[in-house]
Amino acid sequence: MTVSTPLWWENAALPQATTQTLPDRVDVLVIGAGYTGLSAARETAAAGRATLVLDAGRLGAGCSSRNGGQVAYSIKPTFAELTERFGAERAFAICREGLDAVQYLRAMATREFDCGWRDEGCFFGAHTAKYFTAMAHDAEHQPRGLEQRISVVPRAEQHAEIATDFYHGGCVYHDDASVDPTKLLLALHGRAIGSGADVMDECPVYALNRTRDGFEALTARGTLHARQVLLATNGYSGSLSPWHRRRVIPIGSYQIATEPLGKDRVRALIPGGRNIVDSRRVVVYFRPSADGERIVFGGRAALAEQDPLACVPRLRRMLERILPQLQSVRITHAWVGWVAYTFDKLPHLGRQDGLFYSMGYCGQGVPLAPYFGMRIGQQMLGLEAGRTALDGLEFPARPYYGGRPWFLAPSVFAYRLIDAVGL
Ligand SMILES: Cc1cc2nc3c(=O)[nH]c(=O)nc-3n(C[C@H](O)[C@H](O)[C@H](O)COP(=O)(O)OP(=O)(O)OC[C@H]3O[C@@H](n4cnc5c(N)ncnc54)[C@H](O)[C@@H]3O)c2cc1C
Repeated sequence: MTVSTPLWWENAALPQATTQTLPDRVDVLVIGAGYTGLSAARETAAAGRATLVLDAGRLGAGCSSRNGGQVAYSIKPTFAELTERFGAERAFAICREGLDAVQYLRAMATREFDCGWRDEGCFFGAHTAKYFTAMAHDAEHQPRGLEQRISVVPRAEQHAEIATDFYHGGCVYHDDASVDPTKLLLALHGRAIGSGADVMDECPVYALNRTRDGFEALTARGTLHARQVLLATNGYSGSLSPWHRRRVIPIGSYQIATEPLGKDRVRALIPGGRNIVDSRRVVVYFRPSADGERIVFGGRAALAEQDPLACVPRLRRMLERILPQLQSVRITHAWVGWVAYTFDKLPHLGRQDGLFYSMGYCGQGVPLAPYFGMRIGQQMLGLEAGRTALDGLEFPARPYYGGRPWFLAPSVFAYRLIDAVGL
């Protein structure tokens, strides 16, 4: 039988609330107890600000305990695209933020806490020969100062990375890594409460009203006054702030885990133990589980489906196209979470009408959310250190978009066609 909970929840329980009593007043209210909210709370609490983190559900049960745990440089637009939009200097600084985010997480995960950090890198498979040529060219012509350690793997050698002929070669990104996402959540929760923040679960915030010196928050457990408020709701941003809702596109990301296959069988499929992603527009990503016993596979399986079990057949087919060796294995877990895309494919942080926010990691918040959460926390404290290259960028909206992504179905359909014909 397949269960509809994340595999990761079997190895680590979700974090606990520190209080069940809503105070009348706090200095800082953080809405959302994922990587962003907990990282920001750690900064404000450590500076002595009375900080409360509220989550609508269980703590971290949004994306932050159910993701793929893949850690990579995660600024989606290329340096060339960013240069065209913002000029070379700003483009360089934005790309540096992506590298700094990985570095920030690496430093914590290797020196401060255990979240199952594995430095095994990532194999990026080319779905066409043309794409392989482009990818190899890019790997050999990286922008100066933004270099990552990349090696090109021709098709004839790719079995050293993955036991498939599906790809036309690829590249290994040696600086990529992986974590156990729930353990990372627990570690960030530990840092936040260790600095004095309080955390409460099952307490949705229904409305925010501006007051003379801050905000009045109407919650499921009563009303609370906060001098500052951070919206850390990412793909779960509902109607609380219509301005933000018009700017993030919630997209379901689905994952499945195979039954335990045994470490040897997993190693035979993915000899380097690396993360695997590929160049198709409709993304798939997979990796050995943290204990090396299973394969955990994810992708855009459906557009509107809420029930992850209904997506198992499609995800399974996607996995079997790449690794037909897995045809008869059982799928034991299937789950879904809501990531937040933005119209310019960049994350955004700052302050709008007094309300602080950090969101829009475009499905790559494992390194970005802890880092930008930390930065927005510093901004709430008025610290120079909190400044980022993304500050002040327009956070674009689109006409006729109010939070329901009606355009996704035709776009994904078109992307699937483009992938299928190998363009
Ligand atoms: C299946 C899947 C796989 C992924 N794989 C990867 C990966 O391999 N690598 C990578 O880099 N990224 C990955 N991601 C994305 C990554 O997990 C997210 O970008 C990141 O966790 C976002 O963290 P967050 O704290 O901003 O948001 P979340 O962790 O989503 O937290 C937002 C929280 O806000 C709460 N909330 C919303 N509204 C309210 C309200 N009104 N009141 C109170 N609380 C509220 C929600 O309950 C939720 O807990 C994946 C995501 C999914 C779903």
